[in-house]
Amino acid sequence: MDIEFDKLIHLQELDAEIIHLSHFLENVPYKIEDITKKKEEVFQIVTQAKEKLAQNQKKRRDLEADVKAIREKATKYNLQLNEVKTNIEYKSLLKEIEESKQRINEMEDEILNEMLRADEIEEEIRSANQKYNEAEKELSKEKNILQQKQKESEAKRDKLNKEKEELKAKIPDDLIRLYLKIFSSKNGIALSPLSGEFCSLCHMRVRPQVLNELKGNENIILCENCGRILYWLAQKEA
Ligand SMILES: [Zn+2]
Repeated sequence: MDIEFDKLIHLQELDAEIIHLSHFLENVPYKIEDITKKKEEVFQIVTQAKEKLAQNQKKRRDLEADVKAIREKATKYNLQLNEVKTNIEYKSLLKEIEESKQRINEMEDEILNEMLRADEIEEEIRSANQKYNEAEKELSKEKNILQQKQKESEAKRDKLNKEKEELKAKIPDDLIRLYLKIFSSKNGIALSPLSGEFCSLCHMRVRPQVLNELKGNENIILCENCGRILYWLAQKEA
């Protein structure tokens, strides 16, 4: 009885493609996670710039409150000038008033600087937002393409699995069992074509008698070294 190597070869091809698709599909969630992470990273820049602005505004409010407090104190000192009894007290108050004025001047300079800095930060926020929008668009597109490919791959894998079941039904049970046994122990590759006189997968030379038997196409012969089902390549071309 002729062994139907073409069916086994086809089965091996289907399995290889199914494995390939499954690999891709298993990785899709990780790829999507990466895209989400990238989006978050770009958004971080926006968040950081906004935080900078909030800090800047808080500093300005604090400075303004301080200026107000010092001004009030200075006003009080001014009123006290009329009530002091001694020259020393008078001089001391004048000194306080002078120092207050100086301090207020310094703080107002600081406030001005913070206002200028706020303009820069607002520009930073605008630029970060723009970058985020661009990245978001690009990454969403990437995600859509990936999800589309996922859908297609799932459909293709279903189709191939169906085809595989139909094919398996046409192959004798004992042969299928042997195939599956080798398939699971040999990393998903149960068949090995001869390459000249060698097993193409483990490169073991095949004995001349075995070679003739393989060409005769009548028996299942396993590679003595790697244990895979050997076949003569002419079978594939036939
Ligand atoms: Zn081998």
